[in-house]
Amino acid sequence: MKNTENPVVSIHYTLTNQAGEQLDSSIGAEPLSYLHGAGNIIPGLESALSETSVGDKLKVTIEAADAYGERNDEQIQEVSKEMFQGIDNIEVGMQFQADSSSGPAIVTIKAVDGDKVTIDGNHPLAGEQLTFDVEVMEIRSATETEMEHGHIHGASCGHE
Ligand code: ZN
Repeated sequence: MKNTENPVVSIHYTLTNQAGEQLDSSIGAEPLSYLHGAGNIIPGLESALSETSVGDKLKVTIEAADAYGERNDEQIQEVSKEMFQGIDNIEVGMQFQADSSSGPAIVTIKAVDGDKVTIDGNHPLAGEQLTFDVEVMEIRSATETEMEHGHIHGASCGHE
């Protein structure tokens, strides 16, 4: 089966940054499965995987704009420590999930100065050129419900 009309694609991938450091890999774990054409993965990777077949191996280098976006300084804000109630030790580098206008986002603590905390709402990989080594493991048709929901169903989906 070819990856053409909104199928579910399973891939093994290894992700490296521009410096050649490995950031993530599915090797040794379950492959990543996603609904193709639904914007579930970064745009540059999704378009590279169009029209691939099982067994295809590809190496794709994706500019920041087609990966996690450019860094935006407006996403860096100073907030009061009171925003982090219940957390005793706010430390630089800690990450929190926060709600943003474009859905859930990861916020990283950049600096702590007394009661003031500087947070960075940029995705941790924003501004980075990323390289994916990918192997297409499986391609299947999406079910009607998956198409309706815009994501795949399986072990990681709580509402099947
Ligand atoms: Zn669903």
